Amino acid sequence: MLKASMRVRFWGVRGSIPCPGPSTIRYGGNTPCIEVRCGDHVLIFDAGTGLRSLGIELLKDSGIRDVDIFITHCHLDHVSGLPFFAPFFRKDYRVRVWAGNLKPSNSIERVMRSLMSSPWFPVPMDVFKAKIEFQDFKAGDVLRPHDDVTLRTALLDHPDGTNGYRLEYGGRVFALLCDTEGFPGKRDAEMVSLARHADLALYDSTFTESEIVSKAGWGHSTWMRGVRLANEAEVKHLCLFHHDPSHDDDFMDKLAAEATDVRAGTIVAREGQIIDL
Ligand SMILES: [Zn+2]
Ligand SMILES: [Zn+2]
Repeated sequence: MLKASMRVRFWGVRGSIPCPGPSTIRYGGNTPCIEVRCGDHVLIFDAGTGLRSLGIELLKDSGIRDVDIFITHCHLDHVSGLPFFAPFFRKDYRVRVWAGNLKPSNSIERVMRSLMSSPWFPVPMDVFKAKIEFQDFKAGDVLRPHDDVTLRTALLDHPDGTNGYRLEYGGRVFALLCDTEGFPGKRDAEMVSLARHADLALYDSTFTESEIVSKAGWGHSTWMRGVRLANEAEVKHLCLFHHDPSHDDDFMDKLAAEATDVRAGTIVAREGQIIDL
């Protein structure tokens, strides 16, 4: 059977806070936003500052009127692009926003409404014209935004919790495991199963092994832990993601060389990069 196409494009690869400038120009300074095209379907993972440029690009394609955004968790680096997503301002678009584990005390609609309220933002969410559907789910749920697209989810270890995703489409598998500390000292069967035989698995590689010593409990991981997970889950390409804002381009080049030495085929995510699976 011919495998259908899956195209991944990075619009933001940086963790914690945007860090644009001459020293981060090659890997990029925007916070997490990943576009995955599954045939004609547009799936977006996380709504960091990279979402703004993606929204502008989507408006150029008159064939797209339907978009899904999957949020890993609601820390600011993963949602601060939401008020600037151009399709929200167009009445001919339908946008579904998915997030896990916020109910019953909260919901993704409430989070977006509070993000766009005084004193943090000048206009309320009611300025949006698109048909917006809010989809709250529980970690562990299987999501089917389209008949031919399946997403499996699991809770990862991070302050406030975060959702890992496994996207399956046309025989291709994309996995997103960020932000997470990687369950240090123990094997996490759910995380391994999300990444199992993935063509591309993005992993939280915020810290180096020496940096994480003083940052235990912060909810971020290292590329070495990513390599161990990728080996156990027999991932095809491990992709290091959620780079620390203090790691400039020269530092990232060294990190990339070390990581590919240890695991051939490892990719270090760069803003603007396109990967066809
Ligand atoms: Zn983050
Ligand atoms: Zn976070």
